[in-house]
Amino acid sequence: MSSKKYHFETNAIRTQTERSQHREHSVPIFATSSFVFDDAEQARALFANELDGNIYSRFSNPNNDEFIQKLCLLENTEAGIATASGMAAMFISIASFLKAGDHIVASRSLFGSTHQILTGLLPRWNISHTYVDIQADLSTWEEAIQPTTKMIFVETPSNPGLDLLDLEALGKLAKQHGLLFNVDNCFATPYLQNPADWGADLVTHSATKFIDGQGRAIGGAVLGKKEAIDEVRFLARHTGPAMSPFHGWILSKSLETLSVRMERHCQSALHLAQFLEEQPEVVSVKYPFLPSHPQYELAQRQMRMGGGMLTFELKGGLDRGKRFLNALEMLSFTANLGDSRSICTHPASTTHSKLSEEEQARVGITPGLIRVSVGLEHPEDIQSDILQAIDRSK
Ligand SMILES: *Cc1c(COP(=O)(O)O)cnc(C)c1O
Repeated sequence: MSSKKYHFETNAIRTQTERSQHREHSVPIFATSSFVFDDAEQARALFANELDGNIYSRFSNPNNDEFIQKLCLLENTEAGIATASGMAAMFISIASFLKAGDHIVASRSLFGSTHQILTGLLPRWNISHTYVDIQADLSTWEEAIQPTTKMIFVETPSNPGLDLLDLEALGKLAKQHGLLFNVDNCFATPYLQNPADWGADLVTHSATKFIDGQGRAIGGAVLGKKEAIDEVRFLARHTGPAMSPFHGWILSKSLETLSVRMERHCQSALHLAQFLEEQPEVVSVKYPFLPSHPQYELAQRQMRMGGGMLTFELKGGLDRGKRFLNALEMLSFTANLGDSRSICTHPASTTHSKLSEEEQARVGITPGLIRVSVGLEHPEDIQSDILQAIDRSK
């Protein structure tokens, strides 16, 4: 395995499972449920945790280990666990640390299923939460902290509002109060921001999005200090939300190209955002690296580039938003993001339709809001399709 002596791109490519006697160049898929013991003494030592080594693929496998070693180098964390999905990562990163009576402070702007964990599942085990609006200042976060609070959980940039949270300020707050700081870094990816550098104890990922980058595989990861990850490993080993070796192989391969893909996603997204700002039928555009973004300065400080996601608001509200989606010719209409193929969604009529208009507004959703995951097609083709759909949906 490689070490921190290399740059991001090199670590993402050259961190590799040890070559076997077959002298393969590309890492094979270790499609095996279990691993053979050399002798009784080795088996005893492996089970006693005196030796590091593979026993059973529910809790360790060379492909998943390679994926995690890479992610740790890219996120500046010591250890990690690969999971079957992003949601498995979110859940075990919380469940490993909170017990009955505990409390969690979270940003109100959360991925839908994370919201369901906090509101629909954790209360069953008497774990409560307080939401803080994404625009709230630091004192509001501090006021939400109770004597039973154990964790602060956030996403930045938020989905779909693309609002940012100040990771440095929240990291310090968490530290002052002795709380675990858990950051879902799915939207930014390790290429754009490293929450651990700002004090995050846990960095959580859906690898399904930009990390896979091609809409093929579901996966996730929890990363952090070794001590914290040992807690997560206990829960994961005995409850089984394991990533399959096949997905570990795909996702590790995907990381090899993460930097070049993110560069292009971000460049195309910035160009598209600038282009949309000039369109008369567009009321507003939100993108972290547009000077018109209310947190442009924070974005510049916290992120390397603006990310692959942008939103814009069309004149004409809910119906216009739906007509726009129906008028698209090339861009996909699907519930994913971070794909090589550009994707448009209309949160008010789909993912967030169960919220009232007031609740939608609180998480940054207006009736005509369109979310774009800017893909890797030629930027002019993405722009033309959006422009013709704007025209035809008038
Ligand atoms: C998609 C997503 C998740 C969930 O990940 P899955 O891999 O779909 O389980 C969690 N957080 C964010 C921000 C996401 O976009």
